[in-house]
Amino acid sequence: MKKIRLTLLVIALILLISVPTASGTSQTVTCPYNPTVQEILNQVTEGAVTQWIRNFSGEDFVPIEGEPRKILTRYSSQLFSTNPDAMAYPYLGELLERFGYEQGTYLTDHSYSPYNIFESKKEVIKESISKDGEGLLSLDQNVKFLGQTLTWKNKIVTIPGHGPNADEIVLMTAHLDSISYEEPNTNAPGAEDNGSGVAALMEAARLFRFYKFDRTIKIIFFTGEEQGLLGSVSYVADHPAEMDYIMGVVNLDMFGYDSDDDHCFELHVGTRADSNVVGTCFTDVIENYGLNLTFDYLTDGATGISDHASFWSANVGAVEVLENFFNSSLADGCVGQDRNPNYHHITDRIANMNLPVTLSIAQAGIGTVASLVEPIGPCFATDPVITATTLTDTILLSWPEVVDADIYNVYRSDSSCEGIFTQIAQVTSNNYEDTDIELDKYYFYKVQAAESDGVCYSQMSNCAGARVEEPVFFDFYIPFVITGE
Ligand SMILES: [Zn+2]
Repeated sequence: MKKIRLTLLVIALILLISVPTASGTSQTVTCPYNPTVQEILNQVTEGAVTQWIRNFSGEDFVPIEGEPRKILTRYSSQLFSTNPDAMAYPYLGELLERFGYEQGTYLTDHSYSPYNIFESKKEVIKESISKDGEGLLSLDQNVKFLGQTLTWKNKIVTIPGHGPNADEIVLMTAHLDSISYEEPNTNAPGAEDNGSGVAALMEAARLFRFYKFDRTIKIIFFTGEEQGLLGSVSYVADHPAEMDYIMGVVNLDMFGYDSDDDHCFELHVGTRADSNVVGTCFTDVIENYGLNLTFDYLTDGATGISDHASFWSANVGAVEVLENFFNSSLADGCVGQDRNPNYHHITDRIANMNLPVTLSIAQAGIGTVASLVEPIGPCFATDPVITATTLTDTILLSWPEVVDADIYNVYRSDSSCEGIFTQIAQVTSNNYEDTDIELDKYYFYKVQAAESDGVCYSQMSNCAGARVEEPVFFDFYIPFVITGE
């Protein structure tokens, strides 16, 4: 008995010592069921994913810099021009700021020169484009506009970790830009390529701010992907020190097409052990959260035609999530191929997508990132409940204190509970008196608890409306009649 125990102890010690550690990151993650991840996934809805795709692919008007606009193209050279129909980049920034990611701190722009990066990586870029064969514009068509003075940008959301491994980073990436053969400058909806990836990142950005995680998350919207991964190649080149701290990258590029409705997609993992950690987590998440999906798990045959490949070049683990694009004939994998015929055409619109499958794959991507960074739990145990009381000529807002909250952000809408709310105050007490009101006008309020440092928010409170009525004075009008004689 004793001997067996000793043997077990020795085996356990050997196992502990022999866990491989990559430079800078611990790499010991498995992705078991976690109730916080389940809670996050429950909030990712088909309605929300659908609306992001519609907004970014020009189906609906969206408010950008105060004007109703449609995003008709996200072609990179247009994104950073004055084209009023290509304002996806400022729109993205406005949305992320509204989520509470402070510009300059947790929301940053990585500027790069597409000309310089193309010149320096020409051979690699040519190789990656030629591997794709179909679907891409010729290299000359793609790069002819690359003037030397151009600056393009990638948008980055950083959610700092709260645990002992906060220096380790998990990246969730997707390219924001789009392309069409026909008229890229004016009409490139890119609903699947890559509205699907953008929608998943928007849902992650919307929901991760309500939770604490051990590790740090970076959500990166790359541009210049369609010109040869220019945004991600530049990002990797400009952040050499960060590469050692990246535990893994989940790249989501074009996963919302499934015409035969077999729910089968492709996970391009490659041959690196650290990529396999991410890939295995992805399949664990599908299993543990009952997502109705099957997949090709591609190692030797993995593609390099998206932004994940830029990280492979930097010796960082990364996977690419793709529709059933290739005919891989793997055992237990997808049958044949089911490639979107609208790929890189003006017909890549939401009507041609499979939205339930889009939702499931987005959930799997979000669940994988949340699992890799190891959830600690919600930022706050409770959410604030607001009450609005009218005083003589002001409105008093109050709410019970939220345990562990440092600050409260107060929001107001002038139209309704469903209207657009803008922040009117940040207070440390659990009340606020709104003095900036007009009499007889209704105002609607919400409040959110937050930590003063980092990114950690409660869910938004209920909505409370109030109106201060104009005091009524009775003017007694005494009629009199002049009667003539
Ligand atoms: Zn793409």
